[in-house]
Amino acid sequence: MRVATQRWLEQDWGSGWHPFTDQALWEGEEWPVIVRGEGAYLEDSEGRRYLDANSSIWTNIHGHGHPKLVEAIREQAGELCHSSYLGLGNARANELGARLCEVSGLERCFFSDNGSTAIEAALRMELQWRAMRGEARRRVFLAFENGYHGDTLGAASLSGVGRFFEAVAGMGPEVRTLSGLEELAGVDGGEVAAVVIEPLVQGVNEMRVWPEGMLRDLREWCDGAGVHLILDEVMTGFGRTGELFACQVEGVVPDFLCLAKGLTGGCLPLAATLTTGEIYEAFKGPGRTFYYGHSYTGNALGCAVALASLELCLEEGFLSGVRAKGEVMGEFLGRFEGLRGVRAVRRVGMIAGIELAGDGSGRVGRDVCGQLREVGVLTRPILDTVVWMPPPGASEGDLREMGEKIGSILEGVMKPAGVDAKL
Ligand code: PMP
Repeated sequence: MRVATQRWLEQDWGSGWHPFTDQALWEGEEWPVIVRGEGAYLEDSEGRRYLDANSSIWTNIHGHGHPKLVEAIREQAGELCHSSYLGLGNARANELGARLCEVSGLERCFFSDNGSTAIEAALRMELQWRAMRGEARRRVFLAFENGYHGDTLGAASLSGVGRFFEAVAGMGPEVRTLSGLEELAGVDGGEVAAVVIEPLVQGVNEMRVWPEGMLRDLREWCDGAGVHLILDEVMTGFGRTGELFACQVEGVVPDFLCLAKGLTGGCLPLAATLTTGEIYEAFKGPGRTFYYGHSYTGNALGCAVALASLELCLEEGFLSGVRAKGEVMGEFLGRFEGLRGVRAVRRVGMIAGIELAGDGSGRVGRDVCGQLREVGVLTRPILDTVVWMPPPGASEGDLREMGEKIGSILEGVMKPAGVDAKL
């Protein structure tokens, strides 16, 4: 091991604290220390190269080190890295806000820093909007079983996955959890402020896909009940589904659209909560100010790279390319589906999950991802589901290499001794 690698590992074991991680298992383990990225590849401090099969926790869109994105950051850094968006504007944030409104069909853009705060801002806007209209009864948020919307108190309260909200249960806004649209029949719409959903596919719920038309039906119910629709496109935004936003697959325009992760192409932390003119207008005047915001709101570097990334997403051939590459992933998933030990495969665009037969502890998922790392493919499981969500900008060749490597590990791991894997 190189001296530098040893030093970085010791610093990490001695001082680091990683998110969602059992540090008892982390300390002393030789995890890769990533030092470089290029296209679909990441490279560690030992010179080993890995295909980034989960887009660096679902953030990367055009590949690492994309020259246009690097240039946008470099150029902006030469002009201005950050100035306050409180009491001032800045050129890039102003441009990006206008551009995001254009492409989403919404009318106002509020910036923050990450997916959780994009959701938190929507919740706070919604609650204040209802209060300002004197709709005191409408305080309830509807959310979905096994949904995930982030870790701030409000966002975590919406979570339908126990391990993410147990520690703060009951401390946030009032939330009612539904398993599907059929349960709307039993809901008193007059109590509901808004419904929050991850459109088309629930990421943390092992990439479970909603039935076709569900989002359209939900929009219709919201319209009928005077309830707002908050879409969490933190994971699905910026082309992964084959449209710029997942809601566009079903022709739905929400009342709030929450964006983060891929907004900057996966380069810098930045988020946006977009909303309608009707909601925005209510916040004008004395006593109506939206008292919410963060020091790095509208960060110029983040906005500059987000503008450049968005232009790449809108280039001809980008979205059709995602759809075509999704089909290539589909071919591999079709093969995996037949393997012993693969319980199910799921895919929307270039978002896929391979659910393995496990005991629910996540041991099989961890084991398979560990073996994938050994053959140069980086991803993380969700329980026993292996996430395959490469950067939409990855080449077909990169995808095929990932597919072959994932296949080889699944065939090896899943084949019980003496039994041929059925392909
Ligand atoms: N919403 C969804 C759908 C997500 O997948 C995530 C993160 N995995 C979040 C919100 C929270 O985003 P962040 O981690 O940037 O706070």
